[in-house]
Amino acid sequence: MGKKALIVADMLRDFMEPQGTLYLGDAARGIIPFVARKIEETRAAGGVVIYVCDAHAPDDKEFKLFAPHAVKGSPGAEIIPELQVRPGDYRVAKTTYSCFRNTNLDAILRGEQVAGVEIVGVCTSICILETVKELFERDMPRLVYREGVADFDPEAHAFALKHMARVLGAEVV
Ligand SMILES: [Zn+2]
Repeated sequence: MGKKALIVADMLRDFMEPQGTLYLGDAARGIIPFVARKIEETRAAGGVVIYVCDAHAPDDKEFKLFAPHAVKGSPGAEIIPELQVRPGDYRVAKTTYSCFRNTNLDAILRGEQVAGVEIVGVCTSICILETVKELFERDMPRLVYREGVADFDPEAHAFALKHMARVLGAEVV
């Protein structure tokens, strides 16, 4: 039987801290203790923790839509201090909404013989949704924790959870 992986998406200072350039608000701060607990539980169960983090160029085209954020090497691109990266965890840099596009996430999942992915982080309607879509396309079992994801837009959050459960076959718990 394969391992479980926990993808921890974009828990970065620019999104999660009030002084960040694209702060997502109280809903995002509220998930931090839950995410920290899931990380501990995953390690304790022998699973693999994969932090997937925006790392943009200063002139990334995404900044036409959103305020500049998580510029590679800047403090805002750091994982929040409440969460720790431990030896054995992975850290994957991404430049698009999807955790898979132009990253080595596929290779990590294969190398670790992962048989199911759980996902926490931000934003529900953007990175989480895009990533769950890719897991669906790969036929990889996928689970989203309601308490572990957040969005700056409550309606988009609710829609995304429903869509992931009904259309993308995710277990939403
Ligand atoms: Zn981004």
